[in-house]
Amino acid sequence: MTRLAGKTALITGAGRGIGAAIAYAFAREGAAVVLAELDLDTAQQTAERIVSQTGARVLAVRTDVTQAASVQHAVSEAERAFGALDVLVNNAGINVFCDPLTMTDDDWRRCFAVDLDGVWNGCRAVLPGMVERGAGSIVNIASTHSFKIIPGCFPYPVAKHGVIGLTRALGIEYAPRNVRVNAIAPGYIETQLTHDWWNEQADPAAARQATLDLQPMKRIGRPEEVAMTAVFLASDEAPFINATCITVDGGRSALYHD
Ligand code: NDP
Repeated sequence: MTRLAGKTALITGAGRGIGAAIAYAFAREGAAVVLAELDLDTAQQTAERIVSQTGARVLAVRTDVTQAASVQHAVSEAERAFGALDVLVNNAGINVFCDPLTMTDDDWRRCFAVDLDGVWNGCRAVLPGMVERGAGSIVNIASTHSFKIIPGCFPYPVAKHGVIGLTRALGIEYAPRNVRVNAIAPGYIETQLTHDWWNEQADPAAARQATLDLQPMKRIGRPEEVAMTAVFLASDEAPFINATCITVDGGRSALYHD
């Protein structure tokens, strides 16, 4: 499969979960892939697995998306190894679920540092090169929390709403330079993030079942199902798709009643 043949892509938070699935899917489609991840061990293990399964060119770089210099370093390493970046996926994200009035300042800053500043840091690091070359695709991993609210999940949806605003603003700003900026809004996807949330509940098994019961398809999504959409947006199959968001939630956010 060669839908991304000849392209170079950097994916943040790619050591596990949705980011790892995107890295694998990109590699399978012929891209050279850079895993920009906070935990270098995890990134290297994932990189080795991807290489053994696809034979693709893969690089792991320790990256903290909250630090602009760290993201810039990852981009420089990517360019040194594989040449100019064609694709950036801003995937790294954390759940910060609080009650607004008991939330600490630290919770607010921690959430925005990763979930919104992290996305901007990524965009800012790759946009000058993409604009200069007149080509590029940025894919931001948003959430159904980008347009729906669940009480008690503050301020995660505030930051994720911001990801959509950033996507639209940059998509319009750089459209004349042929740089597309889009988002994907996953619903419940089975990753460590989701398991951690279930495990924090009084009865994790019941919490899991309650989540499944809320889904129109009676299951939650798989990371690979988000990755397939990222491949499409990153590829030359989506040349006129810009400044928008594709929801991957099995229809959950269209459902009126629980
Ligand atoms: P995971 O927690 O499984 O993976 C997130 C990855 O991001 C981890 O490898 C983590 O590294 C890394 N990461 C965290 N902070 C940083 C940082 N500061 N710099 C670099 N990397 C970092 O999450 P998911 O795969 O589930 O989520 C991926 C994205 O999808 C997130 O943006 C999330 O908000 C979004 N999303 C997920 C949904 C779901 O149901 N799973 C639903 C909707 C959206 P480490 O392990 O070292 O902390």
